[in-house]
Amino acid sequence: MIRQCAVCWLPGTLCTQCKSASYCSKTCQKADWPSHQLLCKAITRQGTRPTPAHKRALYFPAERRQPEFFWVECPHDDYPDDPGMPDILSIQAYVGAPHYASEKVRLNPRLGRFSPRMVEFFGANPMPKKMGNRSLRAACKAYGSVRRGWEGPLVVLGISAAPCDVTADEILGNGLAGGGIINYDDINLFDLRTIVDWSVWYSEGVVP
Ligand SMILES: [Zn+2]
Ligand SMILES: [Zn+2]
Repeated sequence: MIRQCAVCWLPGTLCTQCKSASYCSKTCQKADWPSHQLLCKAITRQGTRPTPAHKRALYFPAERRQPEFFWVECPHDDYPDDPGMPDILSIQAYVGAPHYASEKVRLNPRLGRFSPRMVEFFGANPMPKKMGNRSLRAACKAYGSVRRGWEGPLVVLGISAAPCDVTADEILGNGLAGGGIINYDDINLFDLRTIVDWSVWYSEGVVP
C-alpha cells in the first residue's frame, strides 16, 4: 500500500478508515478530503475479490454522482513475463461501447513530477458527445473544472511500476508495454488524487 502522502508525496501515515491513502499532515489530509470522502467508506465495503487475478478498478458513471469500485480480471498473474491486459470485455461493459480509448498517466501535472504509480483511463471511442461525466466532475469540483474532458462513462485501473524503470521517452515511445515494467494492481485512493489532478490540471500536449 502506498505510504507516500497522496497530496505532496512526502512520507505519510495511512487514513485510519480506508488504509488506502496516506497523509503527511492534517493540512494535506484536509486538502484531499473533498475527493477522498467520496470513496473512503466505499473502498472498505467492496465485496470479496473473486480470484487473486482480479484487481480493484474504479468506475465513474456518466449520469450519477457516486464513483464505484468493481473487480476486473487481469490475466497478468498467469503470464509473469508479460504485463498483459486487464479483461477488456468487462471494462467495455462499464464503458458501454464496443470500442474504447485508453490513456496511461504517469505525470502528475499539479506537482509537475512523475508519480510513483500510474493510472490508466478507459473511455468509449468515439466518446458520446456532450454527455460529460457527472461523477468525475463531483470528484474534481473542489479543485476546478475538468479539463481532460472524457465524455461518457469512464473506468480507471491502477498500475504499479518501479519509479526508476520508466523514462519519459519510454512513455512516449511504447506506452510502457515492453519489459514487464508495469503491473496492473488494485486502484487505491492515492490513485484517486492522480485521477483528479490529471483531470483538473491537464493541458494539451503534456506527456501523460
Ligand atoms: Zn503531504
Ligand atoms: Zn480514507
